[in-house]
Order: sequence, then structure tokens, then C-alpha cells
Amino acid sequence: MNANHCEEYLKNMLERPLDLDDTFKFKCKACGKCCNQRRDLVLFPHDIYRIAKHLGRTVPEILMRYTSVFNGETSLLPVVVPILVPPNNTCVFQRNKKCTIHQAKLATCAYFPLGRGWSETESKFFLQDVPCGASDPKAIKVRDWIGEDLSSDETVEIGVYQTSVISRYYEIINDVYDSLYTGTKEAIFKLAYLSLYFKYDTERPFHAQQKIICEAFLDFISAYIGTIKKSPTGNCSTTELLAELKPLLMRLHALIGSNNRIFDDAVMALNN
Ligand code: SF4
Ligand code: SF4
Repeated sequence: MNANHCEEYLKNMLERPLDLDDTFKFKCKACGKCCNQRRDLVLFPHDIYRIAKHLGRTVPEILMRYTSVFNGETSLLPVVVPILVPPNNTCVFQRNKKCTIHQAKLATCAYFPLGRGWSETESKFFLQDVPCGASDPKAIKVRDWIGEDLSSDETVEIGVYQTSVISRYYEIINDVYDSLYTGTKEAIFKLAYLSLYFKYDTERPFHAQQKIICEAFLDFISAYIGTIKKSPTGNCSTTELLAELKPLLMRLHALIGSNNRIFDDAVMALNN
């Protein structure tokens, strides 16, 4: 999303808010064009969980097979996106102009042409200015358009909680991030990716798992950055790390799983 797009998104959210029982007018032509060149599509952990559950796969299988990840310049957190397939840079989930995961497609896609803005207490829908749709639009309720799953109170709890995790993480790390060593930034990126995305069991409710793993991650990062701030060298020595952070690291390790090479590599880099 570029700066102009972002401004327009915010303007629409403030000027045209919609509740679940409000109506808007739109009719999809099923042309499939909105699945091409979508570099703005982001998969949140709940999207991955829904897709994995729908396809009868594990969360790591979905992440490894269908997505790529990079470090977000603004959030300083991993950003997971669907793989785009040439020649049109089409979303990996599209076949013959149809979404193969329709019932579990990304929330962003399920909302379109609506957008959904989040704060730490609520969410608001709004109608975006989109250049598509049939010329004979029909009135439809927001609730009916997005479906039962994404209208649920649990989805609101998940989104609101996720917004708070992003902002709490940013507050912890923002003022020291630029001064961290490259290896430390990479290690934090790996830990964040493992912690926030990988460890979901689709047989268990999402939100309860989300709260446990996110809190463990934030507690560790908060303590780690606190240790760096206290250190005269601006870095975290092995001794300090082991003594002060070991319980938090062990808790995270227990949640992420033993014999995890990415975790072990990340911890080794944080020690250096
Ligand atoms: S939402 Fe728009 S671009 Fe996407 S399939 Fe429907 S009409 Fe086409
Ligand atoms: S998830 Fe489905 S609707 Fe969304 S871009 Fe991919 S193919 Fe299109």
C-alpha cells in the first residue's frame, strides 16, 4: 500500500464507516482480476490458520508451500504474503480465475470491496473506491457479504488483540531497532516469525493459542531489549542473556518446540 492509497483507505474508513448490519451496493463479475498483481495482500496468522484448517494441512505446511516472508519496514515484524505466480503475478491460490480456497480465503479478499480498519478496541468496515464490479450492483448486508466466521465476536477479539501485539512490539523495539546489529535484527525476525506464525494447532481454537504464544514472545523481547538498554556496550552478553533471560527463553522454546534449528540459530545470534 503506497502513501496515497493509505491516505484514501483512512479517509474512507473515517467518512464511510459501516456496521455489520449496514448495507452497501456491489456485484462481483467474477473476472478474477483482483487476484493479479496484489502486492498489498498480507496473510495474518489467523488467515494461515483458517486456510490450513480448510485444506486439512498444518500451519507450517501452508507457510512453506504457499507463502513468502519479508521484514516489514514499518511494523519491524515479519510480513507474510502469498506467492505470486508468473506471468501475471497471480495469487498462488487462484486457478482458472477462481479462488481455490474460497471459504477460507484471506480476510482482505473476503472483505473486498470493503476494507476493515482495526484499533485496539474495535474494528470498522468501510466501502473502498474500487474500479471493478458489475454495472447493476445489488444492496447487500456487510454481515452476509463477509460470512459468519469473519463476522463473529471471536474474529473481532483476534483482530483487536493482534493490533495490540503489533503496537506493543513496536513500542518495545522502535527506539533501539536502528542501533541493533544486523545479526540481532535477523535473529529477532526469525524468533518473531516462528513465534507469531508457526505454532498453531488447527484442532484447537485460535485465539487461546494466539494469546499464549504472543505474550511469551513479547515478554522475551521486552526483557531482551531491556537488557540491551542496561548494557554499557549496547549489546547483550552471553552471561547476561543466560542469567536474566533464560526462564523467558525456555518458556518460548517450550512453546515453539525442541530441536528447532531456526530457533537455535536465532538464540545463538542473540548471544553474540
Ligand atoms: S471483486 Fe472485482 S476484480 Fe475481483 S473478481 Fe469481482 S469484479 Fe473482478
Ligand atoms: S486468496 Fe483467493 S481471492 Fe484472495 S487473491 Fe488469492 S486467489 Fe484471489
